[in-house]
Amino acid sequence: MSNEQRFRGIPVSGGVAVARACLLNEYRHSDAEPRAIAREEIPREQQRLHTALDRVAQRLGQVKEQVAARLGTAEAEIFVAQKLIVEDVSLRTAMDEIIAREACNAEAAAASALDAFERRLRAVEDEYLSARASDITEIKRCVLDALGSMNPLLRCEGQDSCEHGRNRVVVALELTPAMTLELDAEQARAFVTERGGRTSHAAILARALGIPAVTGIPRVHEQIPCGTTVLVNGDTGEVVTSPSANTLARHPVTSRARTVTAGDEPVESFAVMANINLSSDAGAALEVKAEGIGLYRTEFECIAAGRLLTEDEQYERYAAVLAHMKGRPVYFRLLDVGGDKRAPFLDLPPEENPYLGCRGARFLLARPDVLAPQARALVRASRHGVVNVIHPMIVDFDQFIALKNLFSESASGLQGGTVRHGIMFEVPSACLQAAALLEEADFATIGSNDLIQYLFVVDRDNEAVARDYTPDRPVFWDVLRALADAARAAGKPLSLCGEIGGDPRYISRLMDLGITSVSASVRLVARVRTAARNYRAGNNYTI
Ligand code: PEP
Ligand code: MG
Repeated sequence: MSNEQRFRGIPVSGGVAVARACLLNEYRHSDAEPRAIAREEIPREQQRLHTALDRVAQRLGQVKEQVAARLGTAEAEIFVAQKLIVEDVSLRTAMDEIIAREACNAEAAAASALDAFERRLRAVEDEYLSARASDITEIKRCVLDALGSMNPLLRCEGQDSCEHGRNRVVVALELTPAMTLELDAEQARAFVTERGGRTSHAAILARALGIPAVTGIPRVHEQIPCGTTVLVNGDTGEVVTSPSANTLARHPVTSRARTVTAGDEPVESFAVMANINLSSDAGAALEVKAEGIGLYRTEFECIAAGRLLTEDEQYERYAAVLAHMKGRPVYFRLLDVGGDKRAPFLDLPPEENPYLGCRGARFLLARPDVLAPQARALVRASRHGVVNVIHPMIVDFDQFIALKNLFSESASGLQGGTVRHGIMFEVPSACLQAAALLEEADFATIGSNDLIQYLFVVDRDNEAVARDYTPDRPVFWDVLRALADAARAAGKPLSLCGEIGGDPRYISRLMDLGITSVSASVRLVARVRTAARNYRAGNNYTI
């Protein structure tokens, strides 16, 4: 008799894997009890605390380096901030004082000082600072771990060692960036979590690593015992424990995305470009032989730096990307802030509904002081190669004209090369005006991530509604078809740079619409080419 147990979640990264489960320990501090100590133990306890804080600071420094190397400097910033908090002298003094005053152990003092700090942050009416409160929770976990000298994250009951997820299906409530780095994520076989939508950190990491991931299974980390064999189908969302021979036969395991091989050469008349966030990512794009940068999300340069970059700093980065790409096309998106792309450094007034607030093109029109240095930097960079400017979140024709004019006025008097202006189709109203917009624009690209969000009124980052966040609705494809027809009629190039452009399941449909270029994460470029090549050759998609 089969003792299979079946779960159904949200597929967020494709492929099929079978391996033993490795549970992340969410309750790792349950034994870190507050305890009274004798007065003569106070100095020793304070010393213990300092050693633990030093260890955590050192570890955060290492994690920061790893994140910067693996995911980019923007993602690494959070660990810089956490390290600064751990090293903060006044926080240490407060903890020392609690130990001395209350004659309690280091665990109690650390928890009490950090809890008080967290409460103060949560009370501040500043979105950025109150969001930092969850960093304090993370820091508290790390400090208590260090005090308990426990294996910081992983619990594999009954096993000698779980090898930090190596060759395992990692099962967790949620994978935070810090946790994924504690794991040997590169070697994990799959991720299964309760929390996190398609654009959550774990989902993006899984897709980048080419491993299956399923989210949205309630209490999954309490239901799958550590060490159990689990099948994860990241294409359908099925997760099966102790799978039978029959089940295994029905879900053939797929191999992980590879690095570039000869077969990943460009496909004729179907260009696969790369999406990048930082100028330093251009090298990786070139390595996979991307046929250009289809989307350079320039706002990430500022998010990574924690401030607006000066005109000169922006110019240097843009010129470097153009030089790196050696004549291949580069599409620079103007700073796209607001909604999911929070920009605390801009000190914007809080909004009731930031997804429908001062964001994208609307923000740039309201802030010529932010647009001007970028416009000038882009025009200067165009001396090194053609600059394609993507206008984000355009809602209609008049707005596009207004933004284009403001761009030109901001850069007037500067000598540059060719600058082309295009729009991102990601707001339904703009799609309805596609013909007029494409007459005016030099090119367009479809931002399917936001287009799905605004077309179906479904938050792209909320796992509670993630089942509704899907391109698998006929209306979505009707919109894409209308855009493709309008581009053809206007004789203007149209590409697609949202996540579906990196998903092999949709490549044939995009090709059928006549879309001849997509832009995807660097790691997915080879997969997309394989799908396109197979479709051309008359095969169904295979990975
Ligand atoms: C999109 O919306 O599809 C897109 C490509 O941009 P972003 O994901 O940065 O919003
Ligand atoms: Mg978008």
